[in-house]
Amino acid sequence: MKLPRSPLSLTLLYAAAALTWIIGGDSLLLYLGLDREATIDMGMSKGIAFVVITSLAMLAILSQLQREQRTIRATIRRSEERLAMAMDAAQEGLWDWEVKSEQVFFSQRYCELLGYDRETFGNTIESWEKRLHPQDREKVLHVIDRLLDHGETSYSNEFRLQHRDGSYRWLQVSGRLYLDEHGKPQRFLGTSVDITQRRADEESLRQAAAVFDSTQEGVLVTDRELLIVHVNPAFSRITGYSAEEVLGQSPSLFKSGRHDRLFYRRLWNALDERGTWSGEIWNRRKDAEVFPMWQCIRAIKDGSGAVSHYVAVFSDISSIKNSQHELDYLAHYDPLTCLPNRLLFSERIEHAVQRASRDKERGAVLLIDLDHFKIVNESLGHNTGDQLLKLIGERLEESLSPATLGRLGGDEFGLLDETCQHAEQASQLAQRVVDSLTKPFEVDGETLFISASIGISLYPDDGNSVEELMRNADSALYRAKSSGRQNFSFYSQDMTTRAQKRIRLEAELRQGIEQEQLRVYYQPIHNLNDRRMIGVEALVRWQHPERGLVPPDQFIPIAEDTGLITAIDIWVLRQACLQMQVWLARGIELEFVAVNVSSRLFGNGDLGVEVKRVLDETGMDPRRLELEVTESAVMENPDRALQLLTSLRALGLRLAIDDFGTGYSSLARLKRLPVDKLKLDQSFVRGLPQDNDDAAIARAVVTLGQSLGLRVLAEGIEEEEQVVFLRQLGCTLGQGYRFGRPQPPEQLMAGL
Ligand code: C2E
Ligand code: MG
Ligand code: MG
Repeated sequence: MKLPRSPLSLTLLYAAAALTWIIGGDSLLLYLGLDREATIDMGMSKGIAFVVITSLAMLAILSQLQREQRTIRATIRRSEERLAMAMDAAQEGLWDWEVKSEQVFFSQRYCELLGYDRETFGNTIESWEKRLHPQDREKVLHVIDRLLDHGETSYSNEFRLQHRDGSYRWLQVSGRLYLDEHGKPQRFLGTSVDITQRRADEESLRQAAAVFDSTQEGVLVTDRELLIVHVNPAFSRITGYSAEEVLGQSPSLFKSGRHDRLFYRRLWNALDERGTWSGEIWNRRKDAEVFPMWQCIRAIKDGSGAVSHYVAVFSDISSIKNSQHELDYLAHYDPLTCLPNRLLFSERIEHAVQRASRDKERGAVLLIDLDHFKIVNESLGHNTGDQLLKLIGERLEESLSPATLGRLGGDEFGLLDETCQHAEQASQLAQRVVDSLTKPFEVDGETLFISASIGISLYPDDGNSVEELMRNADSALYRAKSSGRQNFSFYSQDMTTRAQKRIRLEAELRQGIEQEQLRVYYQPIHNLNDRRMIGVEALVRWQHPERGLVPPDQFIPIAEDTGLITAIDIWVLRQACLQMQVWLARGIELEFVAVNVSSRLFGNGDLGVEVKRVLDETGMDPRRLELEVTESAVMENPDRALQLLTSLRALGLRLAIDDFGTGYSSLARLKRLPVDKLKLDQSFVRGLPQDNDDAAIARAVVTLGQSLGLRVLAEGIEEEEQVVFLRQLGCTLGQGYRFGRPQPPEQLMAGL
């Protein structure tokens, strides 16, 4: 049954039912006509029944109402709970402002946002206003006023309120204004959420973005597939690529090719193991320039620990490199002369000594000290002194390469010659230093003369370390200075003496050549069978004004070292050819004239050309010319010798191998050489015929010559029994004091 809800209808229903019951019941009793007592009883029962029925009805109605109310209350509580939970989940606090009464309801959550509970928070708009941040207050109140004045309904804002702990919290507020039926503001209701953290995050993101954009370092971010997802302006500035050009690309775009696979493998290993790598890497800019950069790469992991991105931060270090290079240069080079300074020079010596000890090589260290340089400085000023040092450095550098020149400080230079195999070479180098300084220097219109003293130490003989070599060169320098300057001195005294002698001899030889002090002597060559003189060998002599006649052994080696030998040999060749022409013209029948050719000249590719010119100029029949080359010169470079001998042979002249037996010939090679004669060295003739070894060698050489179809000549024959012995062996030609000494041409022919 559906019960009426309103109290009035219920009351009316009750009144109607009661009246019907009373009137209806009484009428029925009258109608029944019962006696008075029975009527009274029945009336009593009817009254009791009425009370019972209405009581039951009331009970039923009240119970029903109570049930319904409980249901409603439960529903309301549930929805209230749901609202509270929703707000709680959203971290939102609720406020509800009764505009007229100025009373505000703040939810528990709202109060908690600011560190209060509802009891202590207060519920007036004034107490709330007081908590507004001074900087936000005016703006916030203005917005609310405008809202209330203009009747706008929706509202949102962000501002700061003071927390109980004194700090300010950012709240994001959204709400709604409800108007009454007259359009007047009635309630203003909404929610607030604490966005302090979000604002801070946004702020730091903004800052990070500003850093990202404005930093001098290039930044590049890739995803896990190594495709570029982000670059900053510095990246573009450094590499020349705009962001659009590289987004979605792989960083291998910048590879310079300077690093091998091992380099990249190490880089990736570091990233896999430690999550970071930093180091120097050379990359390529858009304009193809390769440049060095310092790069830090970091692997960024997501919440699950898997790599999600790689961030590379790098800076262009080419300018650092350049200044490093400059610093390095300053540390190792003398700024005035641009020559290696003492430090670098010492390092070079150290390396040279190490290399030499490994390769069993030798070398020399020369300390060069300018004589009386102080006077230049004092009289002409330091500026002029500096200029002079610079010019000296340049001149020495030009004339002494490939030796390493360094400026060790002040007026001291150093020279390192790694090719110096013996002391002579070092003394020649020192002499070149002295010579190159003899020409004057022009500084600021002044003509300056300067000389130098030089101390020489040799490695490994005089030392095996930089310190030892420098110290010994220094004490040699001291000796050079004290023995009159413009001089050089070795660390060891007798080497100095020997070198000085040699140098003097060299100078004299030059002069001797110029002043035509050289002579050609001729030694007869005989046929051992009939003893006839069939040819001569031209041998050079030096008619020295003081020393007298100097034998070739004393000056040929110097001539070879200094290159003078070329001029000497060609001169001798020319003289010999001219002399031969004279003899032939006089009817002296000589088969040939033999001329020695130095191994130095022999190594010279122009020998054929020179010989041809002499033959042409002198009109000499090439068949009457024999060139002697020593066995050792041939075997030094057999392939080259074969080539040269073949070309000489093509000129139509004859070839002999001199000093045969001393040069370790290979038979196979000998066979291929286009020679006519072997000259058995005199050292094997000397002991003949008694010495068994000499005899065996002589026999072997003669047999060898015969089997190769070569003529064999024995040198240095002094005794008749040597002639007999050699002839018995089958040797057909001989030369030696037994037949005649080397002598001037007129003398030789006078004896015929
Ligand atoms: P070589 O070509 O083997 O000359 C033979 C040398 O033996 C000559 O010495 C000669 O004087 C010497 N000699 C000859 N017969 C006898 C003897 O019976 N007993 C002794 N003990 N010695 C004898 P020399 O003239 O002093 O020449 C020495 C070397 O100098 C020559 O050896 C040759 O290699 C070189 N030489 C000489 N003249 C020239 C030249 O114009 N140019 C070049 N490049 N080298 C030359
Ligand atoms: Mg000779
Ligand atoms: Mg000889």
